[in-house]
Amino acid sequence: MQNKRGRSRKVRISAVVMLLAALLGGVILSRTAQGAISRPRATDAVNPLSLSPKSSKDLAAAAKARLDSDRLRRAGRLALTPAPVTKALAAEAAAAAPAGTSALVLYDNTGPYGQLGELYAMATANLAGHFGTVTAKPVSAYTAGMVNQYTATVYLGSTYYGGTVPDAVPAAFYQDALATSRPVTWIGDNIWNMAGAVGVTQFKQKYGWDPTNSYYESGGSIGNINQVTYRNQQLTRTIPAGQDGGVLHPDILTGPGYPAVTRLAEAKDGTSGATSPWAIRSSNLTYLGEIPFAYVSESDRVIVFEDLLFDALAPATAERHRAFVRLEDISPKADPAQLRAIANYLKSQNIPYGINVIPVYKDPKGAYNNGVPETVTLAQAPAVVTELKNMLANGAVLMNHGYTHQYGTANNPYNGVTGDDFEFFRAHVDTADNVVLDGPPAEDSTVWAQGRVTQALAGFAAAGLPKPALWTTPHYAASATDYRVFGQNYSARLERSLYFAGTLTGGTPDNSRYIGQFFPYAVKDVYGTTVLPENIGNYEPDAYNNHPPRLPADLIASAKANLAVRDGVASFFYHPYYPVTPLKQTIEGIKALGYTFVGPTALGQ
Ligand SMILES: [Zn+2]
Repeated sequence: MQNKRGRSRKVRISAVVMLLAALLGGVILSRTAQGAISRPRATDAVNPLSLSPKSSKDLAAAAKARLDSDRLRRAGRLALTPAPVTKALAAEAAAAAPAGTSALVLYDNTGPYGQLGELYAMATANLAGHFGTVTAKPVSAYTAGMVNQYTATVYLGSTYYGGTVPDAVPAAFYQDALATSRPVTWIGDNIWNMAGAVGVTQFKQKYGWDPTNSYYESGGSIGNINQVTYRNQQLTRTIPAGQDGGVLHPDILTGPGYPAVTRLAEAKDGTSGATSPWAIRSSNLTYLGEIPFAYVSESDRVIVFEDLLFDALAPATAERHRAFVRLEDISPKADPAQLRAIANYLKSQNIPYGINVIPVYKDPKGAYNNGVPETVTLAQAPAVVTELKNMLANGAVLMNHGYTHQYGTANNPYNGVTGDDFEFFRAHVDTADNVVLDGPPAEDSTVWAQGRVTQALAGFAAAGLPKPALWTTPHYAASATDYRVFGQNYSARLERSLYFAGTLTGGTPDNSRYIGQFFPYAVKDVYGTTVLPENIGNYEPDAYNNHPPRLPADLIASAKANLAVRDGVASFFYHPYYPVTPLKQTIEGIKALGYTFVGPTALGQ
């Protein structure tokens, strides 16, 4: 019964993940040709570090527009209208510098694709939230002296200024970025405008490279850059055709009068074999040749940026590598013997872990019960509760994985059964067999989400279990409203999350524009909640379509790539309806890389 259900579930879940991830930005589509690292299969591992369909369209158009502009700039035919002179408001100028470690994140929000800027700024703000306080502003709101009020500043150049798009970067930022001794990280477009504003000669003499002679194309093409090497790890860069805006090729100068430029990360063209810098540093300026938040994987080049933030915000950080495993989708219908087998192994290895429990199992149409509707609570499953208590007595931490992990009696998208369907987001399967995310349910609200959380907690209490301290959203999808509710009820979420446009500006969230993200370390995110990392995905033995299984070796390879993060975590999850052996292989492989397994609460420290 259990095995049978597990098998049928896997097939469905496989289809969901592939298609959903594709919709979320083509992540799977982008990687099939390479077949390098497989995607997680279970929907909980949908890799949401990608853009919504609408934002992906923005990205494709922006990539094309960027290359058009870059060609005009190379030809000397891209005129730039300078930004208006801005003056600090008295209140702003008098604002005290934040105490402790602080990051200033500046982003573009003008031009036809300006909406991408806030998404990237949220992704950056979340990561910077690992280190201290974060202030995010449109770059146009920058006023003189601001860089010196923060430990470090990051500017995300996502709008290519020039032509019909006037510069929105205030002259004061160009001047301050040059003059300050604080770290400035510049990512993507417009660095050439800084050189133009401060004087190309002066820029070259301070930084040793010439952005005004640096372009995305080399030899008439952006090429096929599909690998980035950083701290001895080979990271992937897999972007579908038509979506790639390229990586800037910096013109590094040599000779007397120019300081040395440190090549922090190296990009490699998979076709020509040519290498070029992906990230460089000289004086106070770190430059990254692209914004790395779209089309990522567990071994992606975004890891470079995630680690470089330590240089800017916590340079004294010592090398440390910790790992974490959680058991996933444990419902009242779980098999107690399978739980016991996994628990015994983990205890024998003295490995602390998390157990993600769904307190109420529902099969409203009897999809797995011969058409007879079925509901089972934890209190009605004493044998499962006994195993959970046994785990808690032996190093496990209880986590809450939704209330029912399904939505009413709807097929959302499949069958309405706990563990298969979304709970806090609507989804359907279209005629082309794609899973389409439709946004939050119509009744989504603070009250609705809180009601589900309250019922979930009551389910644990009724079974005599303690209150879970941590939350993981079913299938990693909820609205901004829901995420805030979870943050009010639990000390942290442990998951990948969606971040909606409008969050930084304080407007109504735009449910059609969002970015998904996962983390290699704990962060304080833009919803104000601590998010503990899950960045390795999960074991899934079955291949489907053109997609390979995700085996222990794949998980271990992702953990290896994440060694590039100097104080990073390899966090994965495992369904206890699979045998012990692949879990054992995965844990042993991750340990052999030098990771130490810790419990989930330790991940926040
Ligand atoms: Zn789940």
